[in-house]
Amino acid sequence: MTSVVDRLERPLRDIRISVTDQCNFRCSYCMPAEIFGPDYAFLPKEQYLTFEEIVKVVQAAASLGVEKVRITGGEPLLRKDLPELVSELTKIDGILDVALTTNAVFLPKQAAALKKAGLKRVNISLDAIEDDVFKQMNGRGVGIKPVLKGIEAAQKENLQVKVNMVVRKDVNDEQIIPMAAYFKEKGINLRFIEFMDVGSTNGWKLDSVITKAEIISKLEDHFGVQPMNPAYYGEVASRYQYADSKVEVGVISSVSQSFCSSCTRARVSVEGKLYTCLFATKGTDLRALLRDENEHDLKEVLSQVWNTRTDRYSDERTEETAATRPKIEMSYIGG
Ligand code: SAM
Ligand code: SF4
Ligand code: SF4
Repeated sequence: MTSVVDRLERPLRDIRISVTDQCNFRCSYCMPAEIFGPDYAFLPKEQYLTFEEIVKVVQAAASLGVEKVRITGGEPLLRKDLPELVSELTKIDGILDVALTTNAVFLPKQAAALKKAGLKRVNISLDAIEDDVFKQMNGRGVGIKPVLKGIEAAQKENLQVKVNMVVRKDVNDEQIIPMAAYFKEKGINLRFIEFMDVGSTNGWKLDSVITKAEIISKLEDHFGVQPMNPAYYGEVASRYQYADSKVEVGVISSVSQSFCSSCTRARVSVEGKLYTCLFATKGTDLRALLRDENEHDLKEVLSQVWNTRTDRYSDERTEETAATRPKIEMSYIGG
């Protein structure tokens, strides 16, 4: 195994793979229904990387020190036969952890097969515990029940579960305490995510962000919380523990307290473009290389791309860059 560092001395450790750009939800902060309507041109399936191609990319990444793979999208459970991909990824030398980010609606049907295929962890997105607020957030009028059923199904299979909640001012910030109380009682680690300016369709404004400091102050006032040490280098969530229990709660403070200096993540879009930042404007077309009649050394390509990486968008974000820089949609690049 050769390891590789970028221009800012950050190693490549994680890879996130988007397996579809489609989704059964239309979360206002990710795929607003007004933009992602019935006529929206999603990618034709033949343009998706195949499982075989994804495995080749992950093998190359693993040979450069990547240990963790996260499967995401769009809604990854919409990709047919996903357990087959999980099974192949867990067999790759050097890959220690395969995880999935999902809205959980299809988990009751798929949790057992995913577990059998070797999945250990799921991050489940849920932005409110009150039906009406959640219905508004997901843009499809789906209540919380299907998601709670998905969480139960994952737990029944002994998958480790974390829940993610994106917080948007005046939309679901009143849900911070009810969500914390609910998941504290369930013993599930809840992570609040600051609303980010990904893509260019979600109407992001700095003043619609509820910051980590505001979230922690609410949690402190209501429950009492203590900070914990990071579990590993490059961990994105600041971890806390409730004063009267061992349950953890976290905040992903991508806007108010960015963590670019330890960002070890590469992303591969559904059609095989490699991006070195969630806010990148250009990617490297791995699919073209994989489908070329001439052989290409993917490891060498990944290594060169990572070597020249200088991304630190969140460290440099201003309201102006957020408004003017063209950015790729989260559902395409993979959250
Ligand atoms: N559909 C799956 C889900 O929602 O879990 C996986 C893909 S989704 C793009 C991955 C994560 O990105 C979710 O936790 C979602 O809440 C988060 N996300 C999407 N748009 C965001 C934004 N504008 N700001 C912060 N987080 C966002
Ligand atoms: Fe779909 Fe996930 Fe985006 Fe919501 S956050 S629209 S569930 S991809
Ligand atoms: Fe990593 Fe880019 Fe996010 Fe910074 S802005 S943490 S470099 S993905």
